[in-house]
Amino acid sequence: MLGGAEEVGANSCYLNIDGTGIIVDAGIHPRDRTEKAFPAVDMIGDRETDVLLITHAHADHLGGLPYVMRRFPHLRPIMTHATRDLSHITLHNGARLLRSDIADHVPREWLEFYNRDAIELLRYAFEAIRYDEPLTFRGYRGRSDVTAKFHWAGHILGSAGIGLSCKGLNIMHTGDVQFEHQTVIPKATFPRHHVDVLITEATNGSEDSMPSIGEESKRLAAFINSISERNGSILIPCFALGKMQEMLVLLYSMMRRGSIPNLPIHTGGMGIRISKIYDQYCYSDPMRRPGFEVSDVAQESIQRGELHNGAYLKTPSIVLASSGMLNTGTISYNLALQWMTRPKFGIAFIGYQHPSTPGYQLLHSTMKTPFDLASLRATRSCEIGRFRFSAHSSREGLVSFAQDVSPSTVVIMHGEPDACDDLALEIRDRLPGARIIVPRLGTVYNIGKEQDHISVE
Ligand SMILES: [Zn+2]
Ligand SMILES: [Zn+2]
Repeated sequence: MLGGAEEVGANSCYLNIDGTGIIVDAGIHPRDRTEKAFPAVDMIGDRETDVLLITHAHADHLGGLPYVMRRFPHLRPIMTHATRDLSHITLHNGARLLRSDIADHVPREWLEFYNRDAIELLRYAFEAIRYDEPLTFRGYRGRSDVTAKFHWAGHILGSAGIGLSCKGLNIMHTGDVQFEHQTVIPKATFPRHHVDVLITEATNGSEDSMPSIGEESKRLAAFINSISERNGSILIPCFALGKMQEMLVLLYSMMRRGSIPNLPIHTGGMGIRISKIYDQYCYSDPMRRPGFEVSDVAQESIQRGELHNGAYLKTPSIVLASSGMLNTGTISYNLALQWMTRPKFGIAFIGYQHPSTPGYQLLHSTMKTPFDLASLRATRSCEIGRFRFSAHSSREGLVSFAQDVSPSTVVIMHGEPDACDDLALEIRDRLPGARIIVPRLGTVYNIGKEQDHISVE
């Protein structure tokens, strides 16, 4: 692992399959702003580097690509068509954030490719692959062919789990995966044949059970109704890529069914541009409602200059704004400051809040009791609701996939330490005999089949 070992970080994993060097994902850490924000590619040393496979366009999987490509300019970056289209938004947004947050903490040349022109030049090199179609390659010093297939991962538009095969050895890397339907994106359709090595994410590895989308929708509708009945507005902080599109369509269907009133919806940040890319794939990629266009849901766009006096502060409305964890300086953070002084208003948290974020501090605050919010001493008068709409599989979904593909080796990544350990224990119980690895950053593991003389590091 070059990142994402016992954390959700700068996710990246290096595989050397019989002399072909493969990097899966090149993420940027969501919070760390030191040199650890980037994948630790120095640990590859003088091993081969040939292809860079990207599972999806979230920054924690793609945002480190300009850094990795600067170190290894000969890599072939390969991803799905939709991820290639979405990469434009993730990379330019990441470059803007990195230049302002991190520039003083890392050598200047590390950010050399984080500018508009360099990103556009890099994007020319991106190769797009269709779902389930094989792509065969052999590295410069590769001893045999490797075949890669990208499979629908049910996480966000363009997301894929990647199957790799070489001389009868099969490896499956789940990327970020959801085995249940969301509102827009249908569940993963990974093949369930035997694999030798399963590399699995563990985001929700500590959660015994997850509420269904139907139950959570009912609870969210009740919260929205209680706030709007007293003339308040509802703020829903959410990630711009994936969660905002899911929420928009969920709110639209709740209004159509009459479970919530027809309130104006305001959206902020990059969500609108991302929704347009979703719409380009509404027929060609699997969708819960083929042909339904997310940007057709009526919405007003939030202007940066009106955060303290927008229409949503006067008329009951629903506001969807990024970031999802209220990072300081973002639209959702600035709106939350407005919401907190208004007793009739409500904030609905819909996803995981990392303990180091303002979102976590606000979620765990008590009404009218002072608490620390980023660098402020704050109090809140508004209501807080907590809901769970995850784009990641429950532990049960991950374990039952593992059982179906019955791997001899399981590698667990992309989860907090407890989540990785809890998933490892459950898989150990259900797959006795499998070798289970919760890898450490930079440690080399041999996961090949010795009898076939295929070495996989
Ligand atoms: Zn993701
Ligand atoms: Zn991720």
